[in-house]
Amino acid sequence: NLSKRLKNVVNYIPNNSKLADIGSDHAYLPCYAVLTNRCHSAIVGEITEGPYKSACATIRQSGLDGKVEARKGDGLEVLNPNEVDVITIAGMGGSLITSILDSGKEKLEGVETLVLQPNIGAHQIRYWLKDHNWSLVDEDILEEDGKIYEILVAKKSVHKNPFSSEMEKELFIGPYLIQKKNEAFFKKWKHEKQNYERILHQLESAQQTEETIQKVKEIQLKLQ
Ligand code: SAM
Repeated sequence: NLSKRLKNVVNYIPNNSKLADIGSDHAYLPCYAVLTNRCHSAIVGEITEGPYKSACATIRQSGLDGKVEARKGDGLEVLNPNEVDVITIAGMGGSLITSILDSGKEKLEGVETLVLQPNIGAHQIRYWLKDHNWSLVDEDILEEDGKIYEILVAKKSVHKNPFSSEMEKELFIGPYLIQKKNEAFFKKWKHEKQNYERILHQLESAQQTEETIQKVKEIQLKLQ
């Protein structure tokens, strides 16, 4: 049974598309997408031998040989130009997702939709999309097993600017997520706020320590 996180990613894949799932690990997502007829076929990209083998096993066990194809390689290098309509990259940090997109830019030719699911650092992807003429068209945030996940959907053909005059804030938090404000959203940002408050507190303590050290030095000088 596919996780709630990956099911939500699949929900944003346009019907009847050809998919590439990069960094797929076990290939659960592409096999589910083809078995449920969301995609007619899929390519699975994996850089690591173990996950690549596990992807091949899932494909065989699902009877999807010929419809889902596993390829071993780094990021988008496993793709030929104009081979797929949609790319999913899920379960990694925003910086890794961004670097996979950036080093495979020429392979994005012909791709219409990106569905990206960063575990952390979603803002890095928003900046990259904006700087490379991809329109952010939707976002989602969900909680599963106590962890919060974000999903970013971007389109090439749609020229929609989701940003207002408060673009910096929206790139950081998410222009659609700010509007939707669901339970997971509040949980994430409450947690982030607590993190920043903790850092602030530590900085204040460090400052106080610095002041105490300074006082001791001054007293020592006076005693000499
Ligand atoms: N996408 C799956 C999910 O969301 O459950 C698996 C996520 S798993 C944490 C990340 C996978 O990405 C690993 O199997 C890793 O080998 C693969 N990976 C990391 N960097 C990669 C790259 N540059 N190209 C292809 N695969 C990569």
